[in-house]
Amino acid sequence: MNKKTISIAIDGPVGAGKGTLAIALAKKLNALYVYTGAMYRELALACLREKIDINNEEEVLKILNKIYIELKNTDYGVRAFLDGKEVSDEIFKPHVSKMVPIVAAFPKVRREMVLRQQKTAKDAMRKGKNVVMEGRDIATDVLHDADIKIYLTADTGVRTQRRLKQLEERGIKTSFNEVLKDIEERDRQDKERSASPLRIVEDAVVIDTTNDTVGQTVDKVIEKLKEKNLILKG
Ligand code: C5P
Repeated sequence: MNKKTISIAIDGPVGAGKGTLAIALAKKLNALYVYTGAMYRELALACLREKIDINNEEEVLKILNKIYIELKNTDYGVRAFLDGKEVSDEIFKPHVSKMVPIVAAFPKVRREMVLRQQKTAKDAMRKGKNVVMEGRDIATDVLHDADIKIYLTADTGVRTQRRLKQLEERGIKTSFNEVLKDIEERDRQDKERSASPLRIVEDAVVIDTTNDTVGQTVDKVIEKLKEKNLILKG
């Protein structure tokens, strides 16, 4: 039996290839792609702009309830808008990236984000659309009953190279060592926080993308979906 809609959760550390895989799967399965990291990035940017104390949960929460976060999927990737103004490149600047795990560690912030993300998924699935969502807590919190839970990982050097290339494409000047430091620090913060830390759930399909092309990773997921009778075989 093929279910009417499929939900796919993708989690993993920085630069594991979550976004690339999610976009490719969404295209193949005619699914809504949701990049949850952009929501936390926009919140961090808004806090920096408002010059609030980023270590104060209540102040950060106030900002979250005040701003309007909007993500638009295009053929060229996700475009992010904050209160109607495009911030697609700005949210990736190193000084913003560094602040994101701080706002993302607050339980009240996470609760609100999870509710919004669950609503987005529910609305899409109600309209008969498949959903591919990526982040750090998708399998553990947002879509804990997802049809398939993928945990992506890759060698740190490869992840650094990938992230460096993505940043260069956005016109952000940085260096291998700066990106490596950011990756190691953010992964540590995301794994060690007490509210929904990044972890591998028991029923996750773990895929190491170090030596894979995007196509090979997509094929592995498609095979799993067939095994689970979520899409037609052959
Ligand atoms: O995915 P990306 O690297 O853009 O996410 C930026 C940061 O947002 C992560 O390092 C993490 O701190 C936070 N995040 C999160 N939960 C998610 C998505 C992102 O805590 N679901």
